[in-house]
Amino acid sequence: MFFIMGINQGMKELSYNAALFICDRCGRYGRYQVCMTYTYLSLFFIPIFKWGKRYYAKTSCCGTVYELPQETGRRLARGEDVTLTPEMLTMVSAGSAAAAWRPAKRCANCGYETTEDFEYCPKCGQRF
Ligand SMILES: [Zn+2]
Ligand SMILES: [Zn+2]
Repeated sequence: MFFIMGINQGMKELSYNAALFICDRCGRYGRYQVCMTYTYLSLFFIPIFKWGKRYYAKTSCCGTVYELPQETGRRLARGEDVTLTPEMLTMVSAGSAAAAWRPAKRCANCGYETTEDFEYCPKCGQRF
């Protein structure tokens, strides 16, 4: 008789009723995506014990990652309606505003720039 045991890292995305906000890092609209990371012990590939839960919020605009207080994270994990406020957030990794910009299309005719997926320039009708 032998045991197959393992210690693994897991991640779970939590549903968060995300409202749009204006990001103070990149100045654009973003939403928070909330996830939980944890360490777990598995026995025969079945997770039996989880610990070290940490909760993070990531902005969809520029990918800045914030750590959330345990209490806030636990409430989110229970599906409670929590509004994230800047005081709750501890930044762990700054996103890059530049990296988040989708390459803008630029109209060769009138110079109009857009990040939308237009086939034709909405201003002058020139094909992109
Ligand atoms: Zn941002
Ligand atoms: Zn144009």
